[in-house]
Amino acid sequence: MNLHEYQAKQLMVEFGVPIPRGRAVSSVEEAIAAANELGGSRWVVKAQVHAGGRGKAGGVKLVDGLASLQQAAESMLGQRMVTGQSDPQGLPINKVLVEEISDIQQELYLGVLVDRSTRRVTFMASAAGGMDIEQVAAETPEKIVTVAIDPAAGIQAYQIRKIGFGLGLDKEAQKDLYRVMTGLNRLFDDLDASLVEINPLVLTGDNHLVALDGKINLDDNALYRQPALVELRDVSQENEKEHEAHQYDLNYIALDGNIGCMVNGAGLAMATMDLIQLKGGMPANFLDVGGGTTAERVSKAFNIILSDDKVKAILVNIFGGIVRCDLIAEGIIQVVKESDIQVPVVVRLEGTNVETGRQLLDDSGLSIITANSLNDAAEQVVAVAGGKQ
Ligand code: GDP
Ligand code: MN
Repeated sequence: MNLHEYQAKQLMVEFGVPIPRGRAVSSVEEAIAAANELGGSRWVVKAQVHAGGRGKAGGVKLVDGLASLQQAAESMLGQRMVTGQSDPQGLPINKVLVEEISDIQQELYLGVLVDRSTRRVTFMASAAGGMDIEQVAAETPEKIVTVAIDPAAGIQAYQIRKIGFGLGLDKEAQKDLYRVMTGLNRLFDDLDASLVEINPLVLTGDNHLVALDGKINLDDNALYRQPALVELRDVSQENEKEHEAHQYDLNYIALDGNIGCMVNGAGLAMATMDLIQLKGGMPANFLDVGGGTTAERVSKAFNIILSDDKVKAILVNIFGGIVRCDLIAEGIIQVVKESDIQVPVVVRLEGTNVETGRQLLDDSGLSIITANSLNDAAEQVVAVAGGKQ
């Protein structure tokens, strides 16, 4: 689960990380009121969407005077923001963050993540902040300093000094870094985060550190014990179909192609998508209906696949290991009968009672194409979806 910048900053400040003064608002009137409350005559207006790269896409505006503040807020609120990190439809801007201007001497990068190879919470920092850290990592990896935190010993002063030295901070600024890093380390643990990023962390003109941007990703598997954070979820920023699928425990990810896929098991789903592409087709989605496939789940899965009007054909690929193929076949028949499916459905079943299952599908009188193998299924579905793309 992702949070908005304003939410991330609010959490960071609770853990002692300095942030600029500011307020998140949802209307132009509130934006003006927030600016008046903050004082001064120059502010920053920032679109609140679940995607980075807003700066380059016009989602971060420095404004001078209330008239241009109003203009900036009007140009963002109610619009959709497309950035290099969002999909082409963009994300709705329902809130903007109005902040005081910061006096930037230097933009740094500071991130915390779980390094899977060392299995440790790891801090990454770079003096080349403000831009794509992926690019820095790829082109000039020597500009990135990392330290891995020992879970038993906790964060150590020498590790903070190592990062501070890597960032070129003097003794004074290192004191701020101590606060920022110990705070982020606690935040990461206490909130069950999977990624925390401050890009840029700025060194101000008077040599202090301030988090100018903030990003927090939470570990979905730990949300059950973070009820207060679940409240911060903004479903307007999530793919509607993915959200609906999530509610039925279906793992669905929307993709660009025209062949809907319904598979049990993530590995089999990946293999199915690979084979569709190998045969010249393009999957419209990834969908793992999970182990205990029931007629109800199959029905929900069909509805979600079919709500994507790009879908020209559906491939159902089920391996009946725990569930019986005849039960799955009955479920598919029931759903196809009930839901007036207009596109061809190719079914590949394998496993327990497969012969009975196939027979049921063939005898159903419905336009269900049964396949003998995964290879056969992929070829058939690509053909009925309109051939190679
Ligand atoms: P992102 O592009 O979505 O990552 O948005 P950021 O919050 O990182 O903002 C992008 C850039 O806008 C930053 O790297 C800064 O250069 C600039 N920016 C943001 N806030 C301020 C501010 O208060 N003062 C100044 N001078 N620049 C700012
Ligand atoms: Mn940023």
